[in-house]
Amino acid sequence: MDQQYLSVIDEKAALLEDVANYLWDNPETAFTEYKSAAYLCDVLRKEGFTVQENLAGIQTAFSGTYGSGKPVIGILGEFDALSGLSQEAGCLEQKSIGGEAGHGCGHHLFAAGSLGAAIAVKKWLETTGSSGTVVFFGTPGEEGGSGKSFMARDGVFDGLDAAFTWHPGYANKLWTDRSLANYQVLYKFDGVPSHASNRPDVGRSALDAVELMNVGVQFLREHMPNYCRVHYAITDAGGMSPNVVQAHAEVLYLIRGADNATVKELYQRVNDIAKGAALMTSTKESHVFIKACSNLVHNTVLRKVMHDKLTEIGVPELDDQELETAKRFSETALEGIAGVDANDPVWEEIWDYTENEVQGYSSTDVGDVSWVCPTAQILTATFARGTPPHTWQMVAQGKLPQAHKMTRYAAKVMAASAVEMISSPDLLAKAQEEFRSRVGAGYDAPIPKDVFPKAMGSFKK
Ligand SMILES: [Zn+2]
Repeated sequence: MDQQYLSVIDEKAALLEDVANYLWDNPETAFTEYKSAAYLCDVLRKEGFTVQENLAGIQTAFSGTYGSGKPVIGILGEFDALSGLSQEAGCLEQKSIGGEAGHGCGHHLFAAGSLGAAIAVKKWLETTGSSGTVVFFGTPGEEGGSGKSFMARDGVFDGLDAAFTWHPGYANKLWTDRSLANYQVLYKFDGVPSHASNRPDVGRSALDAVELMNVGVQFLREHMPNYCRVHYAITDAGGMSPNVVQAHAEVLYLIRGADNATVKELYQRVNDIAKGAALMTSTKESHVFIKACSNLVHNTVLRKVMHDKLTEIGVPELDDQELETAKRFSETALEGIAGVDANDPVWEEIWDYTENEVQGYSSTDVGDVSWVCPTAQILTATFARGTPPHTWQMVAQGKLPQAHKMTRYAAKVMAASAVEMISSPDLLAKAQEEFRSRVGAGYDAPIPKDVFPKAMGSFKK
């Protein structure tokens, strides 16, 4: 197929770099991405997309649509940052620039790449006059918020025939790992304050309840199904005074399992443990459901298309200076990571196609989109090989030429995959057939209807 329309991504290179750099300069964490969302909506409007804001009642969730009729292809774009990761761009050592947050997962590139893909699909639709619609989705709060899961629960992705996405990384490959479903729940205990030495008899310690709950969960861990994980953080230990019986304490739990049903069941067992801890300490227990996300449903038809496009388009070449910079970052990031050679700092090959779906241990809210329509994603080598996610090294590399170049590569692969699906109804039908057989009875949103997204640190409100 004529891939002339993909050249618009190179023609718009400066725009896409501006977008990524603006987001990098204004890092905003889950559900507070006001500047980033406004900026992206503005660019979408200028590029001729019809923008819809406030999706699923989330102020920073939006879409940009172009075209008409079927099929409708979604391109997902994340843009939230991580707290505590302020870092100088290009700097080879950890050096804060005084900010609160930083783009430690490359989501500034993520948004720019997905935007580039949507622009190229729009170009193709315009040029060919074909029936079809492309929708760019600005999906906020991926980090700790599962924005897409709220959007999916509220039907935002319902009209899609397929969705494509990507993630910045250090290899050029399909995303084939299975992901874990999860629930995040805040457990609160209320007791009775008292002088811990004068009148311990009247005090009822909420902190004791938290400790007993954690012990109970520790015993639960031996008896969980495979792949389950249960993590916690004590978010309120009840104060700084050991001589006051702690009347209030809180612990935030993250419960993971291979699929939604497993997590749902495990959540009930954790609830029972919380109740038991309250009973043992004569305190009161309550909990707040913060968020959840589903496991990924893979689609080999879409995956194969994406792999073909990765190969056809080919990995962009990096010049000597870009490779040298990557090498120096590799050296800072690789200490302690076995099996990676800093003399080979960029993954310039494309990983082999595989139908193998290995169980991974991370979670992604792309999972919920993948329960609603056939979905596939790739990674491209925007960062030096071995760069761990959520680190200052990733923030520091976020504005380098390699990052921008590989973002455009991802944009081209997504655009070409979307165009392939729009122009091949048979292939799309096959993808949908596989999708239906994998989801069986369909999507049962893991987030209860009365739960709304909460920004980090605002759980108590
Ligand atoms: Zn990420």
